[in-house]
Amino acid sequence: NKDNKHCFDDLSKFYAHGDDSYYELMQFKQLTGLYRQLPRMAFPKKKKAIIEVSQSVLKIKNEFDDFQKLKKEHKISSKEIFDNQKINILISYYRSFVKEYYKKENIYDFSLLDDGKTYERLSDFYADVDKITYNLSFIKVKKSEIKRNVCEGKLFLFSIYNKDFSGNSKGKNNLHTNYFNAVFNKENNPNGHLRLGANAGIYYRPASLKESDQKKEIIKTRSGKEINKKENPYHLKRYAQNKILFHLPVVLNADTYDEENVNQNVFKYIKNNFDNIKVIGIDRGEKNLAYYSVISRAADGKIKIEDCDDLNLGYLEPLNKLAEERQEQRRAWQSISKIKGKRDGYISHVIHKIVELILKHKAIVVFEDLSGGFKRSRMKIEKAPYQQLELALINKLNYLVRKKAKQEEAGHYLSAYQFAERIGSYKKVGKQTGIIFYTQAGYTSRTCPKCGWRKRIQGLYYKDRKSAQKIFTAERGVQISYDVANNYFVFKYHPVYNQKESKEWDKEVYSDVSRIKWDNKEKKYKKGYEGEITKKLKELFTGIDVQKNINIQIKDNDNASFWENLINLFRLILEIRNTDNKTGEDYIECPHCHFHSDKGFQGYKWNGDANGAYNIARKGLIILKKIKDAKEPEKLKFGDLVVNLDEWDKFVQKD
Ligand SMILES: [Zn+2]
Repeated sequence: NKDNKHCFDDLSKFYAHGDDSYYELMQFKQLTGLYRQLPRMAFPKKKKAIIEVSQSVLKIKNEFDDFQKLKKEHKISSKEIFDNQKINILISYYRSFVKEYYKKENIYDFSLLDDGKTYERLSDFYADVDKITYNLSFIKVKKSEIKRNVCEGKLFLFSIYNKDFSGNSKGKNNLHTNYFNAVFNKENNPNGHLRLGANAGIYYRPASLKESDQKKEIIKTRSGKEINKKENPYHLKRYAQNKILFHLPVVLNADTYDEENVNQNVFKYIKNNFDNIKVIGIDRGEKNLAYYSVISRAADGKIKIEDCDDLNLGYLEPLNKLAEERQEQRRAWQSISKIKGKRDGYISHVIHKIVELILKHKAIVVFEDLSGGFKRSRMKIEKAPYQQLELALINKLNYLVRKKAKQEEAGHYLSAYQFAERIGSYKKVGKQTGIIFYTQAGYTSRTCPKCGWRKRIQGLYYKDRKSAQKIFTAERGVQISYDVANNYFVFKYHPVYNQKESKEWDKEVYSDVSRIKWDNKEKKYKKGYEGEITKKLKELFTGIDVQKNINIQIKDNDNASFWENLINLFRLILEIRNTDNKTGEDYIECPHCHFHSDKGFQGYKWNGDANGAYNIARKGLIILKKIKDAKEPEKLKFGDLVVNLDEWDKFVQKD
C-alpha cells in the first residue's frame, strides 16, 4: 500500500524463528552496469577526480581508449590484447577509485575486490565489480506477520500464476516460465547469466467497455477500434474485464562484459569451416508468401540442393482471401487490422521454421537486402512486413533456446546460442548480422538454375522505326539466323553491363520456347503453343530467304508494324519466367539451354519462386567464398560482401 511503503524498513519483527511457518522474502539489490560508467566517473572531464590521477595513469587510459577504438574499426585484430602491465595499472586505479567512492556504502561490499589480484583483461575486472553490485537473496519471514499486514491493508499479496505452475500442466514449460524460475534460483543460475532487470512493476488496467455495450454485436473501444464479438471472443475479454498486469524485465546474457563480436566470430568460423557450411536462401515469392532453398557445395564445386520448399505454412490462402476482401469491401481500417493480425501469426510461424532449418543444416541464412532502392513489384509480402520478419528473426537468433536441450548442453536457456547481435532497427543491419547475410535480389528469380543465362539486354520496346532498325543492324546489332535442322531462329547479341556494351557475344537464345503472354484485347493471360514464336517469325519474314543473312535483308523494311512485332517476339523469347496470375501457373523456361521447371530440378519441384530462393542461396555461396578468401576476415566491411552482377554471372554461367 502506498501509505505504508516503509513497512519493511525494519525487518527484525518479521524474521521467522524455529518452527514458525514462513514465506521467503526476496532481497534484491543491484547497481545496474556500474562498470560501464566507471571510466567516466573515475576520469571526470570537468570536475576534479576524487582521488588523484597521476599523469602516467592518464596516459595509459588514453592509450587504452585508442586501442579499443582501433579494434572497433577493425584496424587491429579483435584477438589483440592490451599490454598486461599497463592494463593492471589502470585496473588498480579503478579499484582504488571504487573503494574510495563507495566507502560509506553498506549494501555492497567493495572490500571484496582483492588489491593483489591481477587481470588478463579489463572485462574480467568488470565481472568482479558486477558480481558485487548484483545481489539477490531470500530471508525467511513469518507468515503470520505478513498476513496481519495484509489484513490491516498495509500490504497487498499477489500470487503470480501461469499455466506451467498448475499441478496439471503437462509437457515442457513455456520458455518464459524457465526464465522466471532461473532468475530466482541461484543454483541453476550461478553467474547471474539471467538477471532481474530494473523497472519491474504491477499495473492495473480497468475495463474500457461499459456493461451495456458488451451485449452489442460490434463493439467500439475507447480508441475507436471496432471489434466483432463473434469473430473475436478473446478481444472482448480484454476490454471487458479489469486486469492486474505484472511486468518483469529479465536481462539475458547479463554476465557478458565484452562488446559483442558475433559478426567477426562468424567470419572466423566460416573461414575455418568453409567446406562444411550450407546456405539457406530465403526469398519473398510472387505466387507463394516465401520460399526457401538449402544448398551445399561439394569439393568439385557442384552445388547440391539439400532441401527446398515453400514457406506458406497454411497462411497463403487465408492471407490471399483477406487481401481480396480488402479490395472488394474497401473497408480499409478493419480489414487492415485483420490482415496485420494474421500476418503477425505467419511471421512467428515462419521464424520457428527457419530456426529449425538453421539447427538441422548448420547453415547460414541469406535474405533479400531490403535497404537499397531496388524495387520488386508483385511480391506477396510487402517490404515493411518483410523487414519486420527479418528483424524478428535477428532478435530470436540473438538468444536462441532449444526447448529440449538439457542443462550444460548448448541451446539450453542458460547457455543459449548467439547467432546474431541484438539490433533495434532495420537501418543497422547492413549486409550482415551474425549468421544472417543480405544480398541484392536482382535477377534471382530470372537466372537459369542450370546454365546461368539471364536477360542482359535492355531497351527492347518499340519507339519508332528508326530506333528499331538500329537494334537489329547487320554490323553490331542483334543477329538473327535460322537453324534448319532444329527448326528455330537463333538470336545473338552483345550483353550490356552498367550501360556499356560488352565486346563478347552473350549466350545465344532460341525461338522454340513457349511463353505466357498478356493479351490486351481479350484482357487475359494466354499460353502459347510449342513452336508458336517460330511460326510467327516465319510469317513475319515472308518473302525473305531465312537461310541467308536475315539482318541485311530486313534492314530497309519501312513497315512500322513489322519492327514492332519483331521486337515484341524477341522480348518474349527473353522472358525466362512465365506467370499467369489467374491460374497460378508459374514456370521457368530457359531460351538458351531449354531448362524447363515443370521437369523439376535435382529432383525437387521447381517454379519461379523456388528459383528465386535457390539463386539467393547461390549468392550466399559467393559471400562465403569472399570471406574464405579474405586474408583478415575480421576486417571485412559490409561493402566487401556485396555481390555485383559481374561476379554473379561469372559464378553461375556454364555452357
Ligand atoms: Zn539455361
